[in-house]
Amino acid sequence: MPYPHLLAPLPVAHVTLRNRVIMGSMHVGLEEEPGNFPKMSAYFAERARGGVGLIVTGGVSPNRAGQLKPFASTLSSAGDARRHRFVTDAVHEAGGRIVMQILHAGRYAYHPWNVAPSRIKSPISPFSPWGLTGRGVRGTIADFVKCAKHAKEAGYDGVEVMGSEGYLINEFLVTHTNRRKDEWGGEYAARMRFPVEIVRGVRDAVGPDFILVYRLSMLDLVPDGSTWAEVLALAQAVEAAGASILNTGIGWHEARIPTIATSVPRGAFSWVTRRLRDAGVVKIPLVTSNRINTPEVAESILASGAADLVSMARPLLADPEFVAKAAAGQPERINTCIACNQACLDHVFENKRASCLVNPRAAHETELVLAPAAAARRVAVVGGGPAGMSAAVAAAERGHHVTLFEANAALGGQFDLARRIPGKEEFTETIRYFRTRLTELGVVVRLGERAELATLRAGFDSVVIATGVVPRSVRFPGADHSKVRSYADVLRGAPVGRRVAVIGTGGIGHDVAEFLTHRAPEGDPLVAFFAEWGVDYAAWGQAGEGRGGLVAARQEAPEREVTMLQRSSAKGGKRLGKTTGWIHRATLKHRGVKLLTEVEYERVDDQGLHIRVGGEARCLEVDTVVVCAGQESVVDLVAPLREAGVSVHVIGGAEEAAELDAKRAIDQGVRLAASL
Ligand code: NAP
Ligand code: SF4
Repeated sequence: MPYPHLLAPLPVAHVTLRNRVIMGSMHVGLEEEPGNFPKMSAYFAERARGGVGLIVTGGVSPNRAGQLKPFASTLSSAGDARRHRFVTDAVHEAGGRIVMQILHAGRYAYHPWNVAPSRIKSPISPFSPWGLTGRGVRGTIADFVKCAKHAKEAGYDGVEVMGSEGYLINEFLVTHTNRRKDEWGGEYAARMRFPVEIVRGVRDAVGPDFILVYRLSMLDLVPDGSTWAEVLALAQAVEAAGASILNTGIGWHEARIPTIATSVPRGAFSWVTRRLRDAGVVKIPLVTSNRINTPEVAESILASGAADLVSMARPLLADPEFVAKAAAGQPERINTCIACNQACLDHVFENKRASCLVNPRAAHETELVLAPAAAARRVAVVGGGPAGMSAAVAAAERGHHVTLFEANAALGGQFDLARRIPGKEEFTETIRYFRTRLTELGVVVRLGERAELATLRAGFDSVVIATGVVPRSVRFPGADHSKVRSYADVLRGAPVGRRVAVIGTGGIGHDVAEFLTHRAPEGDPLVAFFAEWGVDYAAWGQAGEGRGGLVAARQEAPEREVTMLQRSSAKGGKRLGKTTGWIHRATLKHRGVKLLTEVEYERVDDQGLHIRVGGEARCLEVDTVVVCAGQESVVDLVAPLREAGVSVHVIGGAEEAAELDAKRAIDQGVRLAASL
């Protein structure tokens, strides 16, 4: 059997889970949409059919104060419970198991009636919390219990009590947010009463035949966070109070250490769960999480004995059939989550429905349907980047006869460049996925062939132009000097000197600055990663006495001296992803990269790059100038095809180069194919 640890059943509470994969909780935005339950049912049922062992829903609040934002999902009445039946019935019919996460947002809530143990504002919500009174604390515990009872009525197999990530329960645990003087504050034994009473109350109310997962913050990553001894004490107390499973929480939302971004090494935090396991203080199953995105990584973590189950949230958005494909011994068919956050978490933080960059159907199952085509057509797709590959695959899935032309020797387009950036290696997986799908769907892939007008005109019913972009050149004197290179040349390996000016501060400018300053770590990459971000990897969970798992960060000398430049006065990189932009900015700051705004470019010569800043002339004496000034569309085939009366569709960068990203490109490819 492939992946014997991952696919082994596990008895928990009154049920046996069919394997060790938990679909972790993730808010997708369907929760608040009117008429949401049929859409949510389709979303969860597709994942249950795909074989996942246990699904955890997005967070549902036990009361109004705990809502993440106004009108966010709450379960506090029998009427609410009836509506949830859509979801639980659909998952059970599909052979799955599902638990509902109870999440009280505490001071992270985005509304003025939010509450917390003490009146301490969070750095990520504009609203100061109200301090809960003693009666308020008791009432909140009762609301958790009532919510769990309604979840049982609604047909859930259990609940997950969200005790991590800096939400209300976590806020009670640490002095960072709990300065109370009553029986809910002070010594740790008093601070942990809140979660322990919730777990005990829930277990008493729901009885033994109900899964109770407790998500425990094992590494807060904030100042004055829990100590390891406190983590152990809580784990024991929660087990004794009736939890069936302990899930691992890593980092509060306000922590300034990346925990799930693509630059975080795969499985980077499983050691935290392992140290709880090794402490030998609890017997119930442990779940590990964060950046586990392939069956190989999951299997090796489970085989090492670090945990009993793995939690994956985003990888199940990317591919609902993750488990089924692993079980069939076909991991190469999995559409791998690349941890970009662009269509999932970034959307949630922008108050938009989540989806997935590599799978635009995620959370749109009932709306974006790839039904079999009424008549098979001959479709040519010109361009093998994200837009072209996704259009070709989706059209072939519908039964069309597809030929894909790619002028380069390899598929991938802009992804073939992105994958070369340190920390973006995951993009290789998307190219592998599409390549596998193109082959199994019988798409004719003509690599190294520039599609000619005559070929397209004669042999196809529809032509999809996905010819992408070329880097924009700059036009000032010396733009053709030997010091000047495009970002594409640099990423493909063109030589670059020690002192570098990067023209442009968009996503590509930031990526290129990271590429140029990156120094390959010597020794264990995990040691280097945690040293760079100041995480106590060596001692946490062992001898460590520190709080929150933080230590002083250690910066390596950067590989090159880089200055980034832009003409506007805006904050550099302001269009970077909401949940990842800060990581890029912090990384470049660690590496001493300078940013100049309001720059006028004058010329490049042997001395360097001559500019004016605030009217004052300066020369940056650099060895290389890398141009990251955006892109221009490649559309030379469009007009002749239209003139010849061919049915032409233009997508991706060829359609609009400005602000192009792979999310838009792949989404356009799939949507176009759905309509062909
Ligand atoms: P971009 O975001 O449009 O940035 C282009 C940069 O070049 C700007 O800083 C602009 O600043 C400068 N510029 C534009 N025209 C110029 C000219 N004629 N001369 C000199 N400078 C010029 O483009 P990009 O960085 O190539 O990114 C392309 C797309 O990929 C974007 O949508 C981006 O969001 C996406 N992307 C995202 C990520 C990510 O991390 N999420 C990573 C890579 C790419 P001034 O006009 O102020 O000089
Ligand atoms: Fe993963 Fe990116 Fe998809 Fe989110 S959008 S699920 S991070 S691939």
